[in-house]
Amino acid sequence: MGSDNPIRVQSMTTVDTMDTQGSIDEVVRMVDSGCEYVRITAPSVKEAQNLENIRNGLHKIGIRVPLIADIHFTPNAAELAARIVEKVRINPGNYADRKRFEVIDYTDASYAAELERIREKFIPLVRICKEYGTAMRIGTNHGSLSDRILSRYGDTPLGMVESALEFLRICEEFNYFNIALSMKSSNTQVMVEAYRLLVQRLDEEGLKPYPLHLGVTEAGEAEDGRIKSAVGIGTLLEDGLGDTVRVSLTEAPEKEAPVARALIERYTLRTPHDYIEPVESCPINPFQYTRRSTTEVYNIGALNVPRVIADYSDIEITRLDDLKSIGHFFLPVPDKWAMNDQGADYIYTGKNPVPFMLPNGLKEILDFSQWAEHQDKQNRFPLLNAAEYQQANLSRISSQLIFIKGTIHTLNAEFLQSIRENTNVVLLVHTENGHAMPELRRLFFRLIELNIKLPVVIQRIYNAQLNDSLTLYAATDIGGLLVDGLGDGILLTPAFTENAEIPEKLKSASIFNSIAFGILQAARTRMSKTEYISCPSCGRTLFDLQETTAMIRKHTEHLKGIKIGIMGCIVNGPGEMADADYGYVGMGKDKIALYRGQEVIKRSVAAAKAVDELIGLIKEDGRWIDPNEVEVLN
Ligand code: SF4
Repeated sequence: MGSDNPIRVQSMTTVDTMDTQGSIDEVVRMVDSGCEYVRITAPSVKEAQNLENIRNGLHKIGIRVPLIADIHFTPNAAELAARIVEKVRINPGNYADRKRFEVIDYTDASYAAELERIREKFIPLVRICKEYGTAMRIGTNHGSLSDRILSRYGDTPLGMVESALEFLRICEEFNYFNIALSMKSSNTQVMVEAYRLLVQRLDEEGLKPYPLHLGVTEAGEAEDGRIKSAVGIGTLLEDGLGDTVRVSLTEAPEKEAPVARALIERYTLRTPHDYIEPVESCPINPFQYTRRSTTEVYNIGALNVPRVIADYSDIEITRLDDLKSIGHFFLPVPDKWAMNDQGADYIYTGKNPVPFMLPNGLKEILDFSQWAEHQDKQNRFPLLNAAEYQQANLSRISSQLIFIKGTIHTLNAEFLQSIRENTNVVLLVHTENGHAMPELRRLFFRLIELNIKLPVVIQRIYNAQLNDSLTLYAATDIGGLLVDGLGDGILLTPAFTENAEIPEKLKSASIFNSIAFGILQAARTRMSKTEYISCPSCGRTLFDLQETTAMIRKHTEHLKGIKIGIMGCIVNGPGEMADADYGYVGMGKDKIALYRGQEVIKRSVAAAKAVDELIGLIKEDGRWIDPNEVEVLN
């Protein structure tokens, strides 16, 4: 791993580590699915010891995949595991600290004394790793930073980086360099910023450029989990960072490797890109989220949430129901339009105008020639390219909102300067470059360098048949810009095969719409649904995470914007669910602890009653909405 080696795929087992045969069987399935490193939890010495049986069992059937012991809180388990497996993962937030959730003011002297205490606990492990040739991952987790780090640096990327560096400096002092580093968070912005900052700090301190293990923690399941992982991991891969990847899904572990592989292979198989003009200096702060400053045009840019534009330019609309795919429903009784939380804001119809009155809340974008002829310009806006805009008789385009589409080539500095003062222009940018995100980012940098404040909608065109890769590619290309505050809207365009029929096209419209909203949510720029921060489960898990997540989702998925943590164990769960509003955490067999933020509100709730109690807690806070009410509101 690292250097010129391929980017490696990692995953983690979920069965109890004491179940030797179950662990072996699971590892076999994982390896078959493409996993190259397998992590197994070792919560105490007895599990650490059992890694030997698992390893021997695997060797017996010819599987020599490197094993990694996952350690929290238990240095003695780490010291034993380091003698057995290829690598030990420690969490610097809890290796030598037990979390007390206290804010403590450290003086320089008391801080130094704490570091001394860590040294004493950590040095034996470093010595063992050196002796046995065992690798180590110093794996920081945003949700489980120590009280010491939190009190000095807060809950920040800098705190995450410093947390790892405290341990790394000790390793280097002992000439132990067999190390990988990670900076995981379930918040994609924080995660991206922390990895970037880590790389910069390693460089500044003259530390070695250690391999990076990339991951978004508690990403969740299904499409949401894949989008969130791609936004975080894909952004860093685009930056050229990352030597091993784990996609954490609340699904069977063998589902993770194919997703990680699809993300990685995009780079391994990539052809050389078209020239992208280099930057002299980076005009954004890559370590802190700041949305690009724009002026408001109609309802786009400035403080407006990024808008979603559905592309129907290749789908002929004939029926009211054709808009269902993008969240707009016509209800015959009471004879009106309704919209769900993922109702597109705009529809681009090109040359095929919607043949009926637009639903409330939906605006239409037409190609300029079509728009110019349309009788009813209410809620309809024109789209032109740069050349058309320059040639057009501007008095013919008196519109509150004009979209000008272009690429990094057509939206050159001269043209941008000529439209900079226009208060009704939104740019719609796209690219043909195989390396889409860097080229689009370069275009944003040009706008910032020229101090041009026009809002920008990002367009990407994907083959409608791409299936799973569509989600990952779109989340990387667009999410990678959004996490840096670049972009005021998304237009995802499906490219259909010639013989595609209308039902198939409408299905694609629905998928593309859902991905667009998912990307905005994962990049934390627009919340349109409940967010579930569910752990991927491991040998510590106290209930069936997939089943429980599905049950909680069924009851709460209408609570737009609320974040619910679903964590398999109370040892790490509360820390790992980081910024969740509520937590559902396993604390014993059939026993659940319920959290409000980081505070435990109810302990030992019977599992059968826990969802009702969780709903009660949300009601107490006045944040509950009856599902029927939501339908009416919509
Ligand atoms: S929170 Fe989930 S993944 Fe993390 S240690 Fe507990 S059970 Fe395992």
